[in-house]
Amino acid sequence: MIKKIFAKCEAFGKGMAFNCHSCGQCVLSQTGIICPMSCPKGLRNGPCGGPVNEMCEVYPERQCVWVRIHKRVAKGSTDLPNMLPSPDSALFHTSSYVNWFKGRDKYGKTPLPYLDLGKDRVEQPVQTKSALEAKFKSGRFVRTCEIRAPRGSSLANVYRDAEFIKDNFDAVNVTAFLNGKPSLPSPRVAAELKKMGIDPISQATCRDHTKTSFVSELIQNHANEVDNVLCLTGDSYMTLPRIKQVWDMDSSLMLHEARYLRETGKIHFTEDKVKDAPQPFIGAVINPFTTPANVPIRRLKQKAAAGADFIQTQLIFNLEAFKEFMKRVCDEGINNDLFILAGVPVVISNVAKNFIPHIPGIDCPQEVFERFDKASDIREEGIAFAREMIAEMQKIPGVSGVHLMLLGVDHSVLPDVVAGLD
Ligand code: SF4
Repeated sequence: MIKKIFAKCEAFGKGMAFNCHSCGQCVLSQTGIICPMSCPKGLRNGPCGGPVNEMCEVYPERQCVWVRIHKRVAKGSTDLPNMLPSPDSALFHTSSYVNWFKGRDKYGKTPLPYLDLGKDRVEQPVQTKSALEAKFKSGRFVRTCEIRAPRGSSLANVYRDAEFIKDNFDAVNVTAFLNGKPSLPSPRVAAELKKMGIDPISQATCRDHTKTSFVSELIQNHANEVDNVLCLTGDSYMTLPRIKQVWDMDSSLMLHEARYLRETGKIHFTEDKVKDAPQPFIGAVINPFTTPANVPIRRLKQKAAAGADFIQTQLIFNLEAFKEFMKRVCDEGINNDLFILAGVPVVISNVAKNFIPHIPGIDCPQEVFERFDKASDIREEGIAFAREMIAEMQKIPGVSGVHLMLLGVDHSVLPDVVAGLD
């Protein structure tokens, strides 16, 4: 009873002062006195890929909590941030002072040590069975694209789309619960692509996974010889009624969990040894257009240190801003540890064009939007734009390839986008 009263008083006081969300393992001293749990995704390490002009993806009228934290803690520097662990869910709505006094909060607030992954990792010998890794390390300018996991159980559309891209791309992502809606799970579709001779990249979102279900998917991928995984935060569900979103990990912790398993053969959060442990080639995403400019650099450094091998960026419409981002990446030497695939949009319909302003975290200059808007044949314009972007990306230092993202559903356009390229 006394503990409950204590917890309620603390929640009231710190709630008024710091917008505290009562996680019971206070990290305010590490986050510039800004409560990370007030991020609507509850991310312990952030930001997600969604903020535009420093404002939150979920609540655009609020400043992004993690942009505020980076600004206050880093003060413009690009230092590698600490990686905070997932909070211990048993301590929620208990008093952090009592937990500190009794030493119960150590697990949830002590920064996780980064793994020693060596220097200049892109030069290291191939470490996994991933064909994608081998292609990166051969020096090839890599091309990837993506297929949507179907909403129903039929794989007919997957087989159809796969035929268009089979011989034109080095690896293919399979989306996971796109827009937060149920679908065939990504690993299931990835296994099917593997049988067709495609190198699949299975996607996993923090929004939908507990640690247990994520590691289980890694094991499932390994059993199906799916060698690549992409770890994402995931858009927030905006449907009503709101349903439970997981956020048991943020994407850095997901990367760390996957890499720890690969390096040690053990599950980090249980320390259990896994027989024939998964050896995934691990991908992450970054939004180069998050501001201020040091925020995506710190986030990228953290994802590299957490264990990412490659990066797929947010869609790039603003080429000049992306060049500036890549210059900073190279100045910091982050490209020596990560292969970076530039996200190239393929806009093939007016519906897709009109959707551009609604994509979280997007930076589309007015003149680029008008180019699509005024096009007499938007499909042809979309192909031309994507081909121009690929040609530009090949000239940017630190870019190891492109990831084509089709805004639309007609995959027959993709061979035309890459026609004539090596
Ligand atoms: S933009 Fe993303 S990281 Fe920032 S507060 Fe919103 S949900 Fe959290």
